[in-house]
Amino acid sequence: MTLRMAVPNKGRLNERSVELLLKSGLDLGEEWGRRLYVSARNQDIEIMFVRAQDIPELVNSGAIDIGITGLDQVAESGYPLENVLNLEFGYCRLSVAVPESSGIRRVEDIPAGCRVATSFPQATGRFFEARGKDVRVVLVSGAAEIMPYLGVSDIIVDLVSSGSTLKMNRLLEIGTIVKSQAAMVTTKDTLRERSKEIEDIVNSVRSVIDAEGRKYLMADVPRSRLKEVERMLPGIGGPTVMEIAGRPDMVAIHVVISKNEIYGAINDLKRIGAQGILTLPIDRLVQ
Ligand code: AMP
Repeated sequence: MTLRMAVPNKGRLNERSVELLLKSGLDLGEEWGRRLYVSARNQDIEIMFVRAQDIPELVNSGAIDIGITGLDQVAESGYPLENVLNLEFGYCRLSVAVPESSGIRRVEDIPAGCRVATSFPQATGRFFEARGKDVRVVLVSGAAEIMPYLGVSDIIVDLVSSGSTLKMNRLLEIGTIVKSQAAMVTTKDTLRERSKEIEDIVNSVRSVIDAEGRKYLMADVPRSRLKEVERMLPGIGGPTVMEIAGRPDMVAIHVVISKNEIYGAINDLKRIGAQGILTLPIDRLVQ
C-alpha cells in the first residue's frame, strides 16, 4: 500500500525537506516544484505538499501516514504525534517576549489579564494555564512583534531563532514554551501498522543527515606513527589500514571523520609526516 507523506509546500521548511528526500534516494521526477503531490518513481511513496501548520492535523487524522513539520506546529496542534526523526534544521523556539520598557523580567511577574498576541493560541493558552496565569490571547497570523506597539497586546508569544527580530523591536525574551526543529512525525497506529515502510524512510533520511556531518579521510602515514593515528582518528570502528606497494615505511589509512574534526585532523596528520591527505564527501552513512 502506498505510503502517504506530507512535506511543507513553502516557507522555511520546504527546501531542506525536499533536499533530504531527494538525497535519501526518492526520485520525485521533474515536476515536484509545480505540483501539489507527486508519486516517487522508484518507491511506493506519495508526497503531498501542504502547509507546515496543517501537517499535524493530516497526520493525526490518518489522512497522511508520515509528515515533516516543525515541533512547534506539533505542540500547537496538541496531538500526541510520534517524533520518529529529528531532522536537525529549522531550529527555533516558541518564546514569551515582553517590551523592554514593561519592566517585566520573569514569566511569574506577568500580571493577570495581560493580553498576549500570538499565532500559537493553543500552546500559549496551555503554557499560561499550567502556571495559573489568567491571560487573554489575541490571535494574530504574523508580525506579533508589532502588536505591543500598536496597543493590541501587552506581550507576545512568537518563534525566535537568532533573537535579532526581538532585539530590533525592543522586546525581551523571558521564557520558552517549546524548543523546536523540523522532524518526521507519525502516529502510534501508523507506526504499528506500517512499521517497515516508516523504518525504511527514517533510516534513509537519517543516513543522509549522518553522512552530511562527516567526511571520508584518506592519508598515507608513517608506519611507525600508526598507533598515534589510531588514537587521533578512531573513526567509526577504527581506521582501515592498508599496505602501499613498494613503501614498507608507510601505510594508507581510510577513516570516517566528523566535519568538525577535519581541521585539527589534517594539521595533526601533517605534523606526524602524513602525505597525500585527501577528504571526500559521503552520500550515505548507515550504522
Ligand atoms: P513557514 O511559516 O511556512 O515559513 O514555516 C514556519 C516554520 O519554520 C515554523 O513552524 C518553524 O518550525 C520553522 N522556523 C524556524 N525558524 C523560524 C523562525 N525564526 N521564525 C519562524 N519560523 C521558524
